[in-house]
Amino acid sequence: MTIIRGATTVEKDEKEQISLAVKEMLDEIFTANALKKAEVKGFLFSLTTDIHSYHPAKSARECGYDFAPLFCAIEPDIDGGLKLCIRLMLFTDLADNRTVKHVYQRGAKVLRKDISEIFNIALDGPAGSGKSTVAKALAKDYNILYLDTGAMYRACALKALRLGVDTKDGEAVKGILSQLDVKVEYKNGTQRTMLGEEDVSEKIRENAVSMAASNISAHPVIRIKLVEMQREIAKKMSCVLDGRDIGSAVLPDAKFKFFITADSKVRAQRRYKELLSRGEVVDFDKLHAEIVARDKQDSEREFSPLVCAKDAVVVDTSSMSIEEVIATIKSYIQSKI
Ligand code: C5P
Repeated sequence: MTIIRGATTVEKDEKEQISLAVKEMLDEIFTANALKKAEVKGFLFSLTTDIHSYHPAKSARECGYDFAPLFCAIEPDIDGGLKLCIRLMLFTDLADNRTVKHVYQRGAKVLRKDISEIFNIALDGPAGSGKSTVAKALAKDYNILYLDTGAMYRACALKALRLGVDTKDGEAVKGILSQLDVKVEYKNGTQRTMLGEEDVSEKIRENAVSMAASNISAHPVIRIKLVEMQREIAKKMSCVLDGRDIGSAVLPDAKFKFFITADSKVRAQRRYKELLSRGEVVDFDKLHAEIVARDKQDSEREFSPLVCAKDAVVVDTSSMSIEEVIATIKSYIQSKI
C-alpha cells in the first residue's frame, strides 16, 4: 500500500469553489503520478471545521473519481492551523515501485516547507496603516514567520535616547554603532526585540520612540546594518515582513508585495487608540501632526525612503475593516500562489 497525499485550500466556503479545488487536486495527483484507476484503493478526505458547504467526497464522485471508496472526516480545530483547507490521503496499490509525488496546491503549499519554495510577503506603508495587524494574521494563517522591521529601528532609537545621543546627528549615531546590539528572537512564535539581553519589545512602543526611530532610520549606517539582518532571516524561511522599504529595497524579489495605506486622520485615530490601550495618554492633534511629520521624513529621506514599489498591490484601508483588509490580501495571495 502506498499513500499519496494532497492538500488544497479555498477562498470561501462555497460549493463551486470546493468542487473546483477538489477536481484540480485530484487531476494533478493522477497526472503527476501516472495513476491508473485499478491502482487506487480508497480516498480519505479531511476538512477544516470552517468548511460546511459541500462534501469533497461528493465533489470527487461528481467529477469521475468514483471507482474506489470515498470518505471524508473533519479535523480538530487547531489554533494557528491553515484555514479553509481540504486534505487527502489517497490509498494506492501501485503496479511498480515508482516514486510518488504528493500534491500541495493553492494556500496549502505553505504546509510543506520541505517541498515548497521559500516565499516572502512584503508589507510596506506609513505608520498606522494596519500593516502589523495584517502581517500577524498572515503569519498565523500561513504558518510563517512575522518580522516587524520597524521594531528593529525602534530598538536602535531607544538605545540612542538612553545614551543621550541626538538621533538626527549622523556622526553621533555612527559613534554608538558598536553599542547597538539589536537582536530579534522568537518566543512562542512571537517576535521579541532585544537590546543585548534586555527584552525591549514593550518599551519601544512608547510614542517618544516613534519619531526618534524615524530620525535614526534615515542614516545609511543604521539601514545597512539592519537590512542585512532582515535579508538573512528572510533567506532562511518564509516570512511576512512589514516596514517602509521591504518591497523596494530589502527584498525587491519578494513574491508578494503590498503597499498598505490610509488617510492620515484614520491612521492617527488607530495609533491614538493603541496608545490609550497601553495606558499612554496623548493629545490627538499632536499625534496626528507627528504622524504627518514622520510620513514626510520617511518619504523624503535620501537613502531607501518609504515608497510604493512599482509591482506592489496598493490597498487603501481608510474605510475597510481589518477583516476586509486581511481577506483582500489573502484572496490575492491565494490566486497567485
Ligand atoms: O513601523 P514603525 O512605526 O514601528 O516604524 C518606526 C520607524 O522606523 C518608521 O517611522 C520608519 O522611519 C522606520 N522604518 C524604516 N524602515 C522599515 C521599518 C521602519 O525606515 N523597514
